[in-house]
Amino acid sequence: MRVPWRRVASWHCDACGKCCVEYTPKLTYYEFLKLRNTGFVIEKSGRYYIRKIGKHCPFQMGRLCRLQNKLKPLSCRLFPFSIYKKGEEEALYEYMGEELFVYVDTFCRNVKFGRAGKSFKEIVDDAVSIIYGKKKFGRLTAPTLPTPVSQSPSQPPPSRPSSGSFRQQISATHP
Ligand code: SF4
Ligand code: SF4
Repeated sequence: MRVPWRRVASWHCDACGKCCVEYTPKLTYYEFLKLRNTGFVIEKSGRYYIRKIGKHCPFQMGRLCRLQNKLKPLSCRLFPFSIYKKGEEEALYEYMGEELFVYVDTFCRNVKFGRAGKSFKEIVDDAVSIIYGKKKFGRLTAPTLPTPVSQSPSQPPPSRPSSGSFRQQISATHP
């Protein structure tokens, strides 16, 4: 479930790694090309993903992500945030004169509901800065920390919003 950022009081990543198991990251075409020689990416109906091995992301080692560099997909660096061009009032976030709509995935156990304060707003700002290419990693975003795995084998994992999917996301309506 995704909720507007104003309904979240705090979030931090403690590197439990569960989001890497729960989700299958979408890739931009550029990310797909960069990771293609690993053999762990797939294309399906014009969309690009990391190819999971059973429940696991092949780039995960223990609780750590091995892509702690330019290769880490944007969707992984952004989690648990999703940013759109349309959305509800509570998700509105103004950035460099643009109106964006930011949502937080409540799958992460460290998303605490409440009224967003200054410190959480700074984290939201980090996420938006990442998607605009102003920052590579947020101060507290999952990407800076290891990210592990576990998902229901009977169900395909939901996809993370595409990394390079900012364009897709911002053109999409609320999730
Ligand atoms: S962002 Fe992912 S790795 Fe970090 S605490 Fe949340 S579920 Fe765990
Ligand atoms: S953060 Fe790393 S280990 Fe986790 S899903 Fe993304 S690429 Fe895989």
